[in-house]
Amino acid sequence: MDKGLIIVISAPSGTGKSSICRHLLKVYPEIEFSVSYTSRQPRPGEVNGKDYHFISRDDFKQRIGQDEFVEWVENYGNFYGTSTGAIERVLNDGKDLLLDIEPRGAKAIKNRFPDAVFVFVLPPSLDELLRRLEKRGHESPAAIKNRFAQAESELKEVLWYDYLIFNEELEAAIGQMMAIYKAEKCKISRLRGKIDCFFKSC
Ligand code: 5GP
Repeated sequence: MDKGLIIVISAPSGTGKSSICRHLLKVYPEIEFSVSYTSRQPRPGEVNGKDYHFISRDDFKQRIGQDEFVEWVENYGNFYGTSTGAIERVLNDGKDLLLDIEPRGAKAIKNRFPDAVFVFVLPPSLDELLRRLEKRGHESPAAIKNRFAQAESELKEVLWYDYLIFNEELEAAIGQMMAIYKAEKCKISRLRGKIDCFFKSC
């Protein structure tokens, strides 16, 4: 059996990344979402075990010590990390995995899983990004300013990603994401097992 595909998606907050991810997961049940661990507090509506595994800072640090994470970062004063075991379990089942993580973590995934696919999502412009951050309404002006500054520095990472989606219109951005996924699934290098089987009639 061919191993599953890892899709990494990164984007500054306020780019519509979550909507794109949600749609991809809905249309393709063979893709699982990688539920990260975080030490940040849940926001209204977020569900433990679905959006994140919400744990304490101490618990997070203990897991770092036990080498549980394939990558982890401290971001906006909180820890975020991806469990190595969870990734391997999904891939060994032949399922695909979607990771919504920031660029430093994405780089670590690229080192460990060079066959993964890296997609960056950008808003139409920096002005639009600021407008969208302000519209989200659940953060203070200081937090928004902080996110905007962080976003500007993350944007510089875009050049080593495989694909870039400008989210000018959500439907179009979702269409591009689905096209990327479908094309990647048809790559010969990902179909070795299936090709072998085809010729051996197994
Ligand atoms: P938020 O707190 O808004 O949910 O996420 C903040 C940032 O952390 C987002 O850019 C998100 O992609 C990133 N993030 C979420 N989980 C992980 C993770 O496991 N590892 C890394 N490196 N970044 C993460």
